[in-house]
Amino acid sequence: MTPHSGSQYLGADVAVASNDPEHLQFLEAAGRGEFVLQQCAECERLRYPIGNACPFCMALGWQWAAVSGRGTVYSYEVVTHPIHPSFRGLVPYVIVLVELDEQRGVPGEHDALRVLGLLVDAEGNPEPEERAGINVRVQVDFADLGDGLALPRFRLADEPSEFPVWRYGYDGAG
Ligand SMILES: [Zn+2]
Repeated sequence: MTPHSGSQYLGADVAVASNDPEHLQFLEAAGRGEFVLQQCAECERLRYPIGNACPFCMALGWQWAAVSGRGTVYSYEVVTHPIHPSFRGLVPYVIVLVELDEQRGVPGEHDALRVLGLLVDAEGNPEPEERAGINVRVQVDFADLGDGLALPRFRLADEPSEFPVWRYGYDGAG
């Protein structure tokens, strides 16, 4: 049950079930500095979250594909209530739903490859809510979990937004 008992996140042990090689491989790739997602062997579309079948064509075959980890914040939320005792020191923190640059507008005009992650600063601390916003550019960053594993997360990218930035309750918006 705990093939990576040496891994920790926020002081808590990271356990990956032995019958869940996909999540373990995802964390191992991040440990090598690679952000990978499943790519369908049939329709070749990338997908997230990790799952057994392609949500687009139902095919079971897939392989890992490295993605850039660059994207735009599609939406975000501020977590103020810790979901686990280890998160007490982290709140408030921002979780971003990132629309990756890969596969935008696929399969439909409003579809995209969207992934979730914590928004952190250069030191790995949570970015304050005031710095988050819809349409801000972000890039993947990795939280080292130890024992060869890491957890993908995001930090602000030093590049202009393609569209106006919207912040809830700030800059006169909301
Ligand atoms: Zn498919």
